[in-house]
Amino acid sequence: MKAEIISIGTELLLGEITDTNASYVAGQLPPLGIDLYWITQVGDNKARLVEALRRAWSRSDLILTIGGLGPTDDDLTREAIAELLGEGLSVDPELERWLRGVFHRLGLDMPERNLKQVTLIPSAQSIPNPWGTAPGWWVEKEGRIIIALPGPPKELKRMWEEKVSPKLRQRCGEAIILSRTLKTWGLSEAKVDELVCHLLPSPNPTLAIYAKSDGIHLRITAKASGKEEAEAMIARMEKEVRPLLEGNIWGIDDNTLPGIVGAQLEGKGLSLAIMESGTGGLLATILTDTPCDYFKGGIVAHSDEAKIKFGVDAALIARHSAISGEVAEAMAEAVRSLFGADVGMGITAVVDALEAKGKPIGTAYIAIATERGNKSIPALYPGPWVKERISCGALFELRRSLLP
Ligand code: ATP
Ligand code: MG
Repeated sequence: MKAEIISIGTELLLGEITDTNASYVAGQLPPLGIDLYWITQVGDNKARLVEALRRAWSRSDLILTIGGLGPTDDDLTREAIAELLGEGLSVDPELERWLRGVFHRLGLDMPERNLKQVTLIPSAQSIPNPWGTAPGWWVEKEGRIIIALPGPPKELKRMWEEKVSPKLRQRCGEAIILSRTLKTWGLSEAKVDELVCHLLPSPNPTLAIYAKSDGIHLRITAKASGKEEAEAMIARMEKEVRPLLEGNIWGIDDNTLPGIVGAQLEGKGLSLAIMESGTGGLLATILTDTPCDYFKGGIVAHSDEAKIKFGVDAALIARHSAISGEVAEAMAEAVRSLFGADVGMGITAVVDALEAKGKPIGTAYIAIATERGNKSIPALYPGPWVKERISCGALFELRRSLLP
């Protein structure tokens, strides 16, 4: 089934709100085996909305509209669908009784303009909305389906979960689209592309490459008539991909670098303390986003004075500069002993032009100190998300140092 989403609202086109509803619905379709080919955003303008609907009608089996079901003049979804299909709108008496009851229970008179929310066309069935005043529409005609969903995210989500998804599941049978994401660190997008390019043309399962702040992700997606078959298809592709990226894959699917490193430290009964310069406490933030008993604490030693105060030798900074492997190692050792931790980490990095002092932005030294020694790793993390990438680089190195 080929699907298309049309998000409706001038707020979207003005950049005032982000289309989180479309993202939500898009994420719901793969488990139903529904292929989403287009997402369109259109303002509260009837002619343009009809135009978008017409195009969708010509190329999609399932059209999901989002928003524009309210009572005001700029809520035009029902009118536009009626025009597309050449059908007339009329008030549905049963829906009208329901909506008058909603207002009555709130002790309010129903404004007459709310009546438009309880209109239907002959091809439409209403989808109950116990969480708002706008019922959705399920329209079937000429082998196509249009589902009109409300804009308020909570209403949309509940209507989807409780009413729309079960009905679509019945329609779609057991077909399923399943994905697995392999997460890598230490390779550029172009390098990953070069390594797997012979697999990219595969139509099913497909392989796609995404650059994220925590590395390059590869998503394998299989479409099959059942879960087991899809899983087997993914496993076959994964077996081809893994050897090409060995050593760089750090996790899959929902895995996060702090989650993986945390599990390693906890598994070995080790504690961690960090001293950061350049990342401004971001690594501590990332670590503490999830429960982390292993984490003793961190210091944001942004200035030279702070580094010296917390145990780095001033002469070392004078000799090598603050952005150096030697200073990173001294930070790791100092914080390890200050907190009495098993593992100490030091990061010193250039994150903006003011600090550069001749070193490119993204230059970082990451040191890991344990009872077995202290080693710094130089790296360069150019491009966007500098702080995130340095923090992730630090976690990747820590993960590597903890591998058996
Ligand atoms: P209402 O009865 O509230 O008018 P509606 O179905 O007409 O409902 P809209 O008027 O399009 O929906 O949107 C109502 C509110 O829902 C918006 O102001 C916005 O806060 C939120 N919203 C609408 N569309 C989206 C979207 N695509 N993504 C995220 N939020 C949205
Ligand atoms: Mg509205």
